[in-house]
Amino acid sequence: MFELPKLQYHYNELEPFIDEKTMKIHHTKHHQAYVNNLNNSTKDTEMSKMTLPELMKKINENDFAVRNNGGGHYNHSFFWKILKKGDSAPSKELLDAINAQFGSIEAMKKEFEQAAATRFGSGWAWLIVKKSGDLAICSTPNQDNPLMPFSPIQGEPILGLDVWEHAYYLKYQNRRPEYVEAFWNIVDWQAVSQHYQNVLA
Ligand code: MN
Repeated sequence: MFELPKLQYHYNELEPFIDEKTMKIHHTKHHQAYVNNLNNSTKDTEMSKMTLPELMKKINENDFAVRNNGGGHYNHSFFWKILKKGDSAPSKELLDAINAQFGSIEAMKKEFEQAAATRFGSGWAWLIVKKSGDLAICSTPNQDNPLMPFSPIQGEPILGLDVWEHAYYLKYQNRRPEYVEAFWNIVDWQAVSQHYQNVLA
């Protein structure tokens, strides 16, 4: 059985960048629904015993129940853990890799913001580590992610942003770029750097 993870912060802690009401509905309603639907669609199957990263790699493109709800559960579980109020900075290793790939952290952010802004409809923007070890930015539709075997771009996410309207509409309405810009204030770079270390290890 898959379970809704507890957050390491209160719903109001990411204010004013993400509002309390959005956080509460997002976690207790949207994420919980992905968990419930995933449990229903994997009941009594091998998939119900897998870890989330294992499950992602086994997802069948045409099994929409597991693709959408399993993706939803993985993506949101990942997302909550890279958010935190307060200053933080990338590790030296990650910063060096960002500078090598994009020229600067500002240039990386611009490319990420572009990916988030141009994802039509619902989806996610990602900073990933490709098989080659290089960093890349991409976006995926709906609840897909770059771990799924049919994703056109493959890699391990180290940073991700939910750009579904449910993630920002109460506060930002149609102003997705404002939400994306606000996101940088609440990125937990220590968690992102840890993901980077884990992928390289
Ligand atoms: Mn969401």
